Amino acid sequence: MTQPSKKSNSMNEFLEDIIFNVFDVSRKASIVGDVCVMCKGDASAFTDELSEKEFTISGMCQTCQDEIFEDPPVENPDYFSDISKTFGLL
Ligand SMILES: [Zn+2]
Repeated sequence: MTQPSKKSNSMNEFLEDIIFNVFDVSRKASIVGDVCVMCKGDASAFTDELSEKEFTISGMCQTCQDEIFEDPPVENPDYFSDISKTFGLL
């Protein structure tokens, strides 16, 4: 059983509302039950403390966190120079 992170009442209501509207589950009940708000799977194993802490805030399991917080693809610098040429900025 995990304790949801301590927040002000208004922040708790905000998080609870958002998660209930998006995922149709209670954030608090999911965290306490070690269940992921997104995939409804087991959320009791995490790779590090930060991920475990994130679960107490968002209620997302390790797998869902990995998908959400994946590093963005490397930006292609050519894209920017092409735009400049298009608009005659060079
Ligand atoms: Zn999940």
